Amino acid sequence: MAKKITLLGSTGSIGTQSLDVVRAEGYEVFGLSAHSQVDLLVRQIEEFHPQVVCMTSPDAADRLDAALAGRAGAPRLLRGPEGLRELAALDGPDVVLNSVVGIAGLGASLSAIESGHDLALANKESLVTGGHLVTQAVERCGVKLLPVDSEHSAIFQCLQDTESAKSLTKILLTASGGPFFGMTTDQLRGKTKADALRHPNWNMGAKITIDSATLMNKGLELIEAVWLFGLPPEKIQIVVQRQSIIHSAVQFSDNSVIAQLGVPDMRIPIQYALTWPRRGGPVAPELDFAALKVLTFDVADEETFRCLAACKKAIAKGGLGPCAANGANEEAVKLFLEDKIGFLDIGRLVEAVVDSDRFGGSYTLADVYECDRMARAFVHSHL
Ligand code: NDP
Ligand code: MG
Repeated sequence: MAKKITLLGSTGSIGTQSLDVVRAEGYEVFGLSAHSQVDLLVRQIEEFHPQVVCMTSPDAADRLDAALAGRAGAPRLLRGPEGLRELAALDGPDVVLNSVVGIAGLGASLSAIESGHDLALANKESLVTGGHLVTQAVERCGVKLLPVDSEHSAIFQCLQDTESAKSLTKILLTASGGPFFGMTTDQLRGKTKADALRHPNWNMGAKITIDSATLMNKGLELIEAVWLFGLPPEKIQIVVQRQSIIHSAVQFSDNSVIAQLGVPDMRIPIQYALTWPRRGGPVAPELDFAALKVLTFDVADEETFRCLAACKKAIAKGGLGPCAANGANEEAVKLFLEDKIGFLDIGRLVEAVVDSDRFGGSYTLADVYECDRMARAFVHSHL
């Protein structure tokens, strides 16, 4: 029987590539969600015939409602963040793939897990902001958390031999370095939105592309890796691999290193999360080693790229530290994309929020949202 999936954030970069995988694997779609792109969601409904859809932005939901009016076989329409959580919880899919961007994905991740669904997770912000709640829920509900982020998928793939996995001593988390690799603080000062949106290897949504330029993305991924694989941050080494061919590696007790390689194409990790433990057919081109010729390795510059340093401080503080860093970053990136702050302000603001409090201890979901609100307010009061 074909697998059925619910895809949250279906109109985004990961969402549309996930639908390429659904097409290639002949899967069925149970539910789809989008935030603002009505026309694209209508085209996806026409192609994939979901039973339920959710539009999170209220006016887009009204427009979608009007567009679907009178259509035979139109899906049930849910609205808003509550609708997204309801969609994530509905019985029907074999797996829920969460590719919403930002902390807006957290509630749906928890809702999917608590309803007993396996969760394929692209929304790294779920683990960064509420890692404690998400991992506890996974344990309590006995579901599988399948990483979609390419580095974490690589690590997950390298750990499939469960006997070796017991001897894991180190994770080598690779980073492309982004468009500004090797630049000094002075060179970064004048960087514009257009410069930062030009990623050398990956074609992604705007927020994560800016996060790649500031190295915030690697900081978020370090936190994500701590939650997914249970190693402390000092056992996770960030390695700059400019070509984005080695997607990450693991080291075992005998110092043997195993890596996962492939072309930089998110459809490969998306597919693995959906087909696991099986492997599907080719959805992306094969790696041409003869054309590639060289792989290079470098060290990430945390002195210049303050977001990475701030994320490390945030994990060391524990508790809601990562949530505060994430909230400040989401708000700062929004302001940068609106041309209201400079590139270096992002790192300054994220670091300042992390330095502003102790954040330690356990937390509830309400605490997470309060911390996020506080971090965003902090950004506005420190412009
Ligand atoms: P995009 O911005 O391309 O897509 C985001 C999706 O989320 C869209 O469907 C969007 O709807 C929806 N969305 C936006 N805001 C909200 C909201 N407030 N509530 C609910 N849904 C919302 O992002 P990406 O696909 O690039 O990234 C998605 C996630 O995957 C992020 O967490 C990112 O870090 C992670 N990721 C992405 C990678 C990539 O290559 N793109 C690689 C690894 C991880 P609409 O478009 O209709 O407004
Ligand atoms: Mg990644």
